[in-house]
Amino acid sequence: MAILLTGGMILGLGLADTIYDAGYVVVDGDRIAEVGPAAAAPSGRAFDEVVDFSGRLLMPGLVNAHTHTPMTLFRGLAEGVSLLTMDGWYNTIRLLELAMTADMVPASVEVACAEMIRTGTTTFADQYFFMDQVIPTVERSGLRAALAYGIVELNDPEARDRELAALDGFLETINSGETDRLRGWVGPHAFFVDNSPETMLAERAIAEKYDTGLHIHLSTTGEEDAFCAEHYGTTAVRKMDELGMLERPVIAAHALTIPQGDWGILGECNFTAAIAASACMRAGAEAAPVVGMRAAGINIAMGTDNVCNNNDYDLFLEMRTLAKLASFREGRPGALPARDVLDIATRGGAKALGLEDEIGVVAAGKKADLIVLDQQEIGWAPAGANAPFTALVYSVNGLHVTDTMADGRWLMRERRLTTLDYRAARARQAEDVKRLLALAGRG
Ligand SMILES: [Zn+2]
Repeated sequence: MAILLTGGMILGLGLADTIYDAGYVVVDGDRIAEVGPAAAAPSGRAFDEVVDFSGRLLMPGLVNAHTHTPMTLFRGLAEGVSLLTMDGWYNTIRLLELAMTADMVPASVEVACAEMIRTGTTTFADQYFFMDQVIPTVERSGLRAALAYGIVELNDPEARDRELAALDGFLETINSGETDRLRGWVGPHAFFVDNSPETMLAERAIAEKYDTGLHIHLSTTGEEDAFCAEHYGTTAVRKMDELGMLERPVIAAHALTIPQGDWGILGECNFTAAIAASACMRAGAEAAPVVGMRAAGINIAMGTDNVCNNNDYDLFLEMRTLAKLASFREGRPGALPARDVLDIATRGGAKALGLEDEIGVVAAGKKADLIVLDQQEIGWAPAGANAPFTALVYSVNGLHVTDTMADGRWLMRERRLTTLDYRAARARQAEDVKRLLALAGRG
């Protein structure tokens, strides 16, 4: 399948920062074969599809580096609660999770995936339970994903043994699958908070066995550091280092309160701080020191988290929130320039998932994960002054996305989803929510 897209603006991003005011892209199979100025677009060659995207902007798909897709089921059910504290999470979400049944998962995952595709995300890192229920819908969606098997131990050795065995089976299955679009990760919910050091060592060993990474929550409130100071006389990051956790790739969601003295250690590891700016602000938590951590060499990515404290999947709005929060925290305008924010949402996410050579850039040889935005919509004017970086971060939103492609396949064309049925999924999800609330005694 060869596709020619021609006529509109191309924002390559990446190190080269290629911009064509009028450009062309050839997609061949799952990869980008050519990128150049529209004047040099191939003529006389046969393509399966030719797309004129004049008046639009083509750029790399965005990467959501931290989410829990089944939790769209709980959207609106944790209002007024901080999910970044053990207490807040345990007394709201955990109670709903105990009532939730496996058959409630697929519709909510479909709603989540549809919202990501609609708003320009092409890759995401998920972490949750019921992964056997998550995989088929993500597979069908066409999105690229790192799916982490979530583990909550809470000092229950029986739960630990059962979960570790299930984790091993999950990784065996998913990482031997035919597609490299979906990869399995290890997902301890939170080190030290609900995963003991014994479990963490076993999780590290399993991650090593399958050559994969750990997707965790870290430093949402300083709980881990207080625990580690009391029990080990050191910080959470240093204890993780001692346990060998940092030898694996780590995606650490939130990373709000990592002591500055530990940033240097993390800057030298394959470690990503996945910032969920909206979730952190709504929870009334501390703002992550993104500017400082970035300067210390720590890879920064962004995520939506579970959309119960957020409450949407639109990464354009998350970029805007992250940029404003950085200025607010640092007490100066432009603390995180728009170009850097775009980098965080694309290459930062790609690096988090170990895909920095494959995605996050529109360039020949890369995977064809790209999105197209309508520049005739509101927010772009005046053209020269406001485009493209500032407009993308501060003026437009995910609903400006008209087309989404992952792995060379259209997931949305002209604002119509091609792989998922959002309306049907929403109807099923509404029924699931009714059942959930009845089971949880909130009906
Ligand atoms: Zn989370």
